[in-house]
Amino acid sequence: MESQKPMFQVENFDDEFVQKLVYDALVWCSLHGLVVGDKNYQKSGTVPGVGVMHAPISLLPTPFPESYFKQACEVAPIFNELVDRVSLDAKFIQDSLSRTKKADIFTSRLLDIHSKMLESNKKEDIRLGLHRSDYMLDEETKSLLQIEMNTISCSFPGFGRLVTELHQSLLRSHGDHLGLDSEQVPKNTSASQFADALAKAWLEYNNTRAVVMVVVQPDERNMYDQHWLSSILREKYPLFFIILAEVEKEGRVQEDGTLVVDGQAVAVVYYRSGYTPRDYPSESEWNARLLIEQSSAVKCPSIAYHLAGTKKIQQELAKPGVLERFMDNKDDIAKLRKCFAGLWSLDDPEIIKKAIEKPELFVMKPQREGGGNNIYGDDVRENLLRLQKEGEEENAAYILMQRIFPKVSNVFLVREGVYHKDQAISELGIYGAYLRNKERVVINEQSGYLMRTKVSSSDEGGVAAGFAVLDSIYFN
Ligand code: ADP
Ligand code: MG
Ligand code: MG
Repeated sequence: MESQKPMFQVENFDDEFVQKLVYDALVWCSLHGLVVGDKNYQKSGTVPGVGVMHAPISLLPTPFPESYFKQACEVAPIFNELVDRVSLDAKFIQDSLSRTKKADIFTSRLLDIHSKMLESNKKEDIRLGLHRSDYMLDEETKSLLQIEMNTISCSFPGFGRLVTELHQSLLRSHGDHLGLDSEQVPKNTSASQFADALAKAWLEYNNTRAVVMVVVQPDERNMYDQHWLSSILREKYPLFFIILAEVEKEGRVQEDGTLVVDGQAVAVVYYRSGYTPRDYPSESEWNARLLIEQSSAVKCPSIAYHLAGTKKIQQELAKPGVLERFMDNKDDIAKLRKCFAGLWSLDDPEIIKKAIEKPELFVMKPQREGGGNNIYGDDVRENLLRLQKEGEEENAAYILMQRIFPKVSNVFLVREGVYHKDQAISELGIYGAYLRNKERVVINEQSGYLMRTKVSSSDEGGVAAGFAVLDSIYFN
């Protein structure tokens, strides 16, 4: 491990200097669109430019060793390939989730769509994945461990780049005083790489009259992150935003498979919605999801890619011998396995016993996305005991994961114009883009990064969920 030089002598900064940095950071955010809808304004999630607040940020980039960053970047294309291979193994997906299906209605509905596609022998020739694999650096074992793989609606590809540029800019102006070099913040092209992948998928679809359709939530305070991608795309490619319920009303699939929405043929569907049960308040949304899946449009993600990113599949992939089912290259397998934390299903009595004894060493996870759903600490024990009483079925809704303990450091978190000095831990997300047309791999690359930092006393992460702030990294 690289030497951890003491840096960011946070204690030594006087309030006046920090206030000045905060001021400059907030001006930068406002001028460069690192902003979210302000929850105090009702219309801020629907009308752009109304009720705008700077995004929650870390004032300075967080130290992270270059070697671990490289390791995470290096496995990104391998994870991309893995997701693709898993998505093609329908039996593995259905079998792995067969018990979960009985215990979890949301997973069950997704699997129903997957089954329907199997019955009609639907093939996805053009496959687009825009993923984010998240990691924490475990302090005790000094190992980079994967928290999860996100295959649907990965947030902040737009802001990843921006927060990096914010930190670079602050270090250029104040680096001397801080003793920091802006060159040590690695460059980040997350927004343009994701936009480029969407554009290339559009080209592969090969219908110049067709458009890119971004499926969004009806009320989205994180809209500017999405607009960053769309503003890059829009210069060259036709694009529109829509909610799932509208797709049901305005959409149909032609005989040749073309998805037509509002009279427009759709080449690429990019989901920034559809990942949580809340996105399906009625049958309309489920109908829309099915309709899109039945079409020939490139889906980011397809139902199979979506399911390949579930926590249950993550846990199945971590079992001995399972990666070998999908990958041939032994080095690649070893690199992936090195990032796997302990993962277990709840039908393992040994591990349940351990988790009841020492719940603080585990995280209990349902099949959900978006933050705020996991169970920690004493609640793990309580829930495991409850499930034991209730019998077998219910426990298939969850997996158990080894709790990872990253290094705690002092940081300045800036929210709603005010800074707080606090003890914090960080989670590194590495974006990955994958595009394939039948046997031809068009893109398979690491596509930028996002650091998220949260106070160490909070169990959950998630910026939109209100736990974490956006951050970048500083090589030390
Ligand atoms: P989601 O799909 O909702 O983002 P995650 O698996 O990423 O679910 O969990 C949410 C947050 O919980 C993470 O961002 C992280 O802060 C925390 N977390 C998840 N798994 C672990 C773990 N094994 N050890 C420590 N913290 C974890
Ligand atoms: Mg997730
Ligand atoms: Mg997560």
